[in-house]
Amino acid sequence: MTFPPESPAPTASLTARSDALFKRAQQVIPGGVNSPVRAFKSVGGSPRFIARADGATLTDADGQNYLDYIGSWGPMILGHNHPAVRQAIQDALPFGTSFGAPNEREVLLAELVTRLTGTEKVRFVSSGTEATMSALRLARGFVGQTEPGRKYTLKFRGNYHGHADALLVEAGSGLMTNATSLGGAAPSSAGVPPEYAALTLVAEYNDAAGLDDLMAQRGHEIAAVIFEPVVGNAGVLIPSADFLAALHRVRGAGALLIADEVMTGFRLSLSGATGLLGLEPDLTCWGKIIGGGLPVGAYGGRSEIMDFVSPLGPVYQAGTLSGNPLAMAAGLATLTELERDPGIYTQLERYTAALGAGLSDLAAQAGVPITVNTIGSMLTAFFLEGDVQHYGQAARADTAAFSQWFRAMLAGGVYWAPSQFESIFVSAAHTPADLDFTLSAAQSAFTHLKEPA
Ligand SMILES: *Cc1c(COP(=O)(O)O)cnc(C)c1O
Repeated sequence: MTFPPESPAPTASLTARSDALFKRAQQVIPGGVNSPVRAFKSVGGSPRFIARADGATLTDADGQNYLDYIGSWGPMILGHNHPAVRQAIQDALPFGTSFGAPNEREVLLAELVTRLTGTEKVRFVSSGTEATMSALRLARGFVGQTEPGRKYTLKFRGNYHGHADALLVEAGSGLMTNATSLGGAAPSSAGVPPEYAALTLVAEYNDAAGLDDLMAQRGHEIAAVIFEPVVGNAGVLIPSADFLAALHRVRGAGALLIADEVMTGFRLSLSGATGLLGLEPDLTCWGKIIGGGLPVGAYGGRSEIMDFVSPLGPVYQAGTLSGNPLAMAAGLATLTELERDPGIYTQLERYTAALGAGLSDLAAQAGVPITVNTIGSMLTAFFLEGDVQHYGQAARADTAAFSQWFRAMLAGGVYWAPSQFESIFVSAAHTPADLDFTLSAAQSAFTHLKEPA
């Protein structure tokens, strides 16, 4: 067997090779990274370059091991290098890597996804960004056939739906720590014309009355309401029952409900957060787990809506690598594994709850105020006191304390999300011994917070 490769031998300095790679990377890649939060900019320090990943362990270029709570930012629910996923990719590999024509694995994955999630049709794309962007266009096109005046999208403050222009408005994830503020309800990124951003309305998450009010005023102009059914991209935010009911009411106003399950799909249950919470969206977007670590996104819904997409309908959407056979194979193997052993979800929830309770206790003992939000395998420890139900509350977190804690965790061998406003993910590869290791690193990190940095 040639994989996994030999671990590189440890170097004298714990970060010599990563530092050298980062220096070279910065010469040829903006900021040295291909996605902003990887840069560690908000927490200080320089990123580790990962040489291999196996189970719940990341090994960097200097041969240091880290217990991984990022899971590639969501896809790796089974852990890295899972034997069934690796085998599926190896089985597909000898037959070619991309055809530009339909293949059987697309049909198999579409059948599996529609069956697990109760949707009728799905279209595969290559990222979560493409899924949300395409779903939005489809919603406008579908609703617009009878009501062309419905041009607006409604989203929620601190929700992140990928980086398409219309959705980079008051967005979460890396934008909460990396964006330069442009002020107002303006675009979250330079390069998005205010005229585009003006078509996106923003409401507060978990504010049922605010959503009802906005729908009462502008509902007739709105094509779609897009939301994270459980938020991961402002840190973890759990929707209230009131808010879920208000979300359902938007359909009464003639707008389509788009659930962005790119993070929560197949994570919070086999039928996602919407299945868990009893939500019935018109369109659903997937990414991350659906590709098992290879690039896959998807959007789906009732045939009546989905058949409005090209080649059947007038809404155009295409992709050179969409339905890629290797990516389909990885997605199929991952979802098949999750369906075969649904006990995985119970275990993930138990471990994550234990981790959350442990962190709360240790922080309290050390006199560090934190609020832990968890659901299923998702967890954020906000460095603040009091409830966190929406963006405004999350934004009050002590990011300096978090950064110091993050660096201490990393030094202790635990790779936490390098931003206060992200979820961490427990995977099926984490063990009780891993949780103990994490809590002991956390105890020392909380204790050292009280000392000058
Ligand atoms: C990650 C994420 C996206 C974007 O997916 P990419 O594959 O990074 O483009 C969109 N929505 C949500 C909720 C996400 O978590």
